[in-house]
Amino acid sequence: MRISFDLDDVIFNLNPINMLAFERAGIPYVRQTSWNIDEIYDESVCKNLVELWGDDLLYRMPVLDTKIPHMLNVLMARPDMEIFFVTERRMKQPEKTYRQLRNAGIKCNRDQVYDKIGFKSDILRELKPDIHFDDSPLVIKGCLDKGVPVVMISNNLTLYNHHLRPYVEHYPNLRTALIQKGVYKTGKIR
Ligand SMILES: [Mg+2]
Repeated sequence: MRISFDLDDVIFNLNPINMLAFERAGIPYVRQTSWNIDEIYDESVCKNLVELWGDDLLYRMPVLDTKIPHMLNVLMARPDMEIFFVTERRMKQPEKTYRQLRNAGIKCNRDQVYDKIGFKSDILRELKPDIHFDDSPLVIKGCLDKGVPVVMISNNLTLYNHHLRPYVEHYPNLRTALIQKGVYKTGKIR
């Protein structure tokens, strides 16, 4: 089984960066309701968000769920599993992305990490995962259009993807998604 994972807001917690963008702009924090930040946020918030997106801070964001590194390591140790991490960050810095994963305790190899130029859904179409987990509405729409099996992570912090809930299988977090999809088996093997 081939499984691929988005990083930001699926494995890593971007909320501290979002809050910092508001703090730097001197504006009270509001949650992101649309993927198009220019439409919803003040210009100075957008500017700070874009700057932070290319900053080293991005590569030091904590995981959303401290159980996830262990769960991913269990999956990567299984001979029947091929695991990939596919991100679409503004600055293409795959080495930093790789180090971020390793620093978080996720024991991946460099060749499992994709952070390159191009639409993520096109990269995924080439990669041919059996399931891809993501929160981005653009990526999810792209996957639906291109026949890439996708599961959406959707919760109160991802208001920007709620409009896609009728069209795609979704779970509030990656831990629940992995268990509900039967990818990660809990309990002891008898
Ligand atoms: Mg994401």
